[in-house]
Amino acid sequence: ALDTQTNQPDTADLHDWDRTHQLHPWAAMDDWRGYDHMMVDSAKGIYLWDASGKRFIDGPGGMWCVQIGYGRQEMADAIAAQVMTLPYTSPWTTVTEPSAILAKKIADMAPGDLNNVFFTTGGSTAVDTAIRTVHFMNNRLGRPDKKIVIAREKGYHGSTYLASSVTGKERDKSRFDVESRLVRFLPDVNPYRRRDGQSVQDWCDEKVADLENMIAEVGAENIGAFIAEPILCSGGVIVPPEGYHKRTHEICRAHDILYISDEVVTGFGRLGHWFASQEVFGITPDIITCAKGLTSGYLPLGACIISDAVMERMTDPDDSVLFANGYTYSAHPVCCIAALKNIEIIENEGLLEHVREVAPHFQARLQALRKFDIVGDVRGMGLLGCIEGSARTLAGERRLGAMLDEACEEMGLLVRPLINMAVFSPPLIITRAEIDEMFDILERALEQVQAQLSA
Ligand code: PLP
Repeated sequence: ALDTQTNQPDTADLHDWDRTHQLHPWAAMDDWRGYDHMMVDSAKGIYLWDASGKRFIDGPGGMWCVQIGYGRQEMADAIAAQVMTLPYTSPWTTVTEPSAILAKKIADMAPGDLNNVFFTTGGSTAVDTAIRTVHFMNNRLGRPDKKIVIAREKGYHGSTYLASSVTGKERDKSRFDVESRLVRFLPDVNPYRRRDGQSVQDWCDEKVADLENMIAEVGAENIGAFIAEPILCSGGVIVPPEGYHKRTHEICRAHDILYISDEVVTGFGRLGHWFASQEVFGITPDIITCAKGLTSGYLPLGACIISDAVMERMTDPDDSVLFANGYTYSAHPVCCIAALKNIEIIENEGLLEHVREVAPHFQARLQALRKFDIVGDVRGMGLLGCIEGSARTLAGERRLGAMLDEACEEMGLLVRPLINMAVFSPPLIITRAEIDEMFDILERALEQVQAQLSA
């Protein structure tokens, strides 16, 4: 009930109003008005506090986005100053200092001739923009049939109509419609799914052949783009086999199929580089999408970065046509200032180098979890990791995921269960000691769950 002195709601009121009036992303529809989300009160560094004052390590780093950690005064100051100087102006007809500087910075960071930055409101709208760009280009080139997007099972690209259409996670579209004429899916690339005795090299050959066969079947003249996350993050931190990126990129080039690298998670330091496409996987895509770590989650912003080569094929001085794509909040000056401050902090604190330095320890602690029988697989790269349970049935998997989640929460670590998987992408500022703190909790939680399950 409302506090009679202050007239402020108490935690029970807030939970009640949330349940009654707020619809959350991915809400369980059999539990309408029944769900009970943790109420997060405050945050600092890599830690969150709930309404009761209990502290948690933020294992997933928000939603894979909180690179510089929480509670940065200099970020608050930069945002506040921009709000007072200029909170908004139309991106249709005006430009601002923050957006011009940020566009230049991103163009400098992106590989090759990816020099053209279209600002969006997040990852989904960046993916939408990328696919619309492909369509625009092929319409302009008189190839109206070259529109199909090849995507992959387990890929996640967002929740707008187009982005969800190219998302390859079945569960995510169970009762929503998608534009299925526009997309074809390649089978799972996860090396963990290879057959007994099959080498990783052979698995890679098979996955590359999947793409070649798909192109042969659908016809390159009908395929506009291939969209791929360098690492399939929401799908369970799936790292495709070595050599896969380069080989698939070459095939796309050979067929004039644009390569869209969805770096919404891998961009801005997660793997120790501004972007992973070129520096980690050796490819220069035609389009890169990014969001999340761009502002470390302080404010919403995404970007679709387009190559000069693609732009040149879209423009023509004699063809007056508009790139009629955009959002009221494209290039929002306050969001752009937050991104600039975020980049400045990453640079000043050497966070890219820091990630490269602590990642081997993070990955070694992750690999050590294989000793638990209930762990089926562990995988990761940089400051990204996932543990997958060894349960064989969906019910068993759900139970294991829920039990691990509960045990970790009890011990002060947030994990983000994806059925039977727990994923990790902590803030990039995490120290070696904090990495140990996180994995020590995880080991204790796994021990406890293993004991409970065998009892
Ligand atoms: N692309 C990838 C690879 C993502 O992981 C996500 C979100 O998790 C998105 C796109 C969608 O981004 P947003 O939720 O900001 O729209």
